[in-house]
Amino acid sequence: MSHMSNYSSQSVKSFAMAVLKGFGCNEEEADIVADHLVDANLTGHDSHGIGMLPLYGEQILDGNLVPNQQPLLHDPIGAISVVDAQRGFGHRMALVALDHAMQCVPEHKVAILALRNSGHVSRVGTYSEYCAARGYVSIHMVNVVGHAPIVAPFGARESGFSTNPISMAMPVDGQATPLLDIATSTVAFGKVRVASNKGEKMPPGCLVDEQGLETLDPDPMAKERIGALSAFGAHKGSGLGIFVELLAGALASTDTVATMEHLPHGVINNMFSIIIDPAAFDSEEAVARRTMEFCNFIKEKQPAVGTESVLLPGDTELRNRQQRNDHGIPVDDETVRQIMDIAARFDLSAADTAALLSPVSQ
Ligand code: NAD
Repeated sequence: MSHMSNYSSQSVKSFAMAVLKGFGCNEEEADIVADHLVDANLTGHDSHGIGMLPLYGEQILDGNLVPNQQPLLHDPIGAISVVDAQRGFGHRMALVALDHAMQCVPEHKVAILALRNSGHVSRVGTYSEYCAARGYVSIHMVNVVGHAPIVAPFGARESGFSTNPISMAMPVDGQATPLLDIATSTVAFGKVRVASNKGEKMPPGCLVDEQGLETLDPDPMAKERIGALSAFGAHKGSGLGIFVELLAGALASTDTVATMEHLPHGVINNMFSIIIDPAAFDSEEAVARRTMEFCNFIKEKQPAVGTESVLLPGDTELRNRQQRNDHGIPVDDETVRQIMDIAARFDLSAADTAALLSPVSQ
């Protein structure tokens, strides 16, 4: 099992920024991407934190991820905006695209965004938070093309689509409350990579081997893409994953996973977003009040035996942010080694870069 250390979030951000600038990102882009990755780690989504850097480095070397890219912002048609990210860093492209789309909200009370051909947009909940901070309800669906599918559709023994995440949130006092942010696979692929790096087994119900039989071993999938992830919730999650592919791929973009070539280290995201001004229905305050009344109604439910309290979607992210801001972000040595390996290929000094990580005393 790989050794873990807890690092301060500031030092993880400095470390990530140094690597991203070494990749060729300018200061502004490195700042946005590093903030996104560190926040993914802070919220407990280590699968979408700094452990993604080696993949991004490989994609840049392959020419499939373009630092400092300018997106193509098409003029909106009604409330619909189409943005081609031209394979720029998705963390920045998605924010630029959302800002572009949200210009339609004052007139239409809704904006629909099709973000196409983007580098990895990573933790999709970030975009629900971005919209909630501006007072908007939002729903985001992301498909993944450019590599072989990795999730087995219900009833199949081979993969047919990817982890196709969905995020949605209500705005309450500028916060995403509650915030649902889920892959339509039982777990995101990055969690398989994290378990493999840590030398841990996967929980039941996450993975099948090449026979379509359940396995707990993350290594064949993480290292050689053997086997498949399982969709959550049997035929229901599988059906949702298929519709994410159709909305983000067939409708909002030009490719589904069925048609796009498989690139080396390829991860191209398309995002279909619906952004709604709650004031079109009632006062913002009234919608927020009803939201909180319902949230409290849920949280007051008696917990199941063995469960401490009933949580709403988004509670674990809030709890993790608090805990990890106080006690540091746990990162395993294998992940740091993988980042240093890619950094070296961009001629970064391993010693200088690693020195930016400061462990937190426990
Ligand atoms: P997950 O299984 O940890 O589920 C997270 C969601 O479940 C959150 O909304 C969380 O608040 C909620 N939750 C967790 N525990 C809960 C509990 N006890 N009670 C109630 N709610 C609870 O996450 P995941 O499905 O593995 O996805 C992880 C991340 O991966 C997400 O941020 C997602 O956006 C991201 N992702 C991105 C891509 C991409 O291509 N960009 C693809 C797949 C996933």
